Amino acid sequence: MAKKIIVLDPGHGGKDPGAVGNDLLEKEITLMIARKVAKRLGNYDVTVRLTRDDDTFLSLDARAAFANNVKADYYLSIHVNAGGGTGFESFIYNGPVNSVTGNLRTALHQTIATFVKSYGIVDRGEKKANFAVLRQTNMPACLIEMLFIDTAKDAAFLKDDEFMRGMSDAITAGLVQILNVEAVTPAPQPTPEPPQPSTPVWNPQGEIQKLIDAGIIFNNHPADAPVTWGEFAAVINRILNSNKQ
Ligand SMILES: [Zn+2]
Repeated sequence: MAKKIIVLDPGHGGKDPGAVGNDLLEKEITLMIARKVAKRLGNYDVTVRLTRDDDTFLSLDARAAFANNVKADYYLSIHVNAGGGTGFESFIYNGPVNSVTGNLRTALHQTIATFVKSYGIVDRGEKKANFAVLRQTNMPACLIEMLFIDTAKDAAFLKDDEFMRGMSDAITAGLVQILNVEAVTPAPQPTPEPPQPSTPVWNPQGEIQKLIDAGIIFNNHPADAPVTWGEFAAVINRILNSNKQ
């Protein structure tokens, strides 16, 4: 079965910094998280594609087209919120989506929400919106808004390496669960080949040497020399005599 493909889409980039606040740029946080999640997913049997892996501007159309072109099994857009609130929320498209999209989002959302709530952070809930990347992607898709960059309490978490590692772990765990992918076990060590029986090689001179060693013949005759009846009879008699002993 072909490997499943997940597209991680770090929001914003390049000339578009996204939300800004508390000395943080959304485009940098989204890329950092995407890279951390991609690294963690490297331990699983899944192909991870990032819409961007550097500080590049990408249109929303390009992001959705990328996921459609690589025939992703799942699309996750990663963002940081702004506007003075606090907490975590997730979105799926508010138009017609199949039930799978909703079910996968719920599982992913719950995994991340459980993590943020362990830090006393609010779960703002599972939401729907008419976001272009959710509308234009052909596969189950979700957009997460991790905390509020312009709220000091949330920004402090966004600057906390341990929290961000935990957030990356939680997103990874959620994706592993909804994609149902296995951890990659280390490649088995090649078992040594059993020794192959050596192919017998026809060695006429060797055969003559064996008879000399056994005392059946006495001289190292050329292998293709003719044999007289007398020589042949003498060889037979020596074999018969050696069997009597
Ligand atoms: Zn954003």
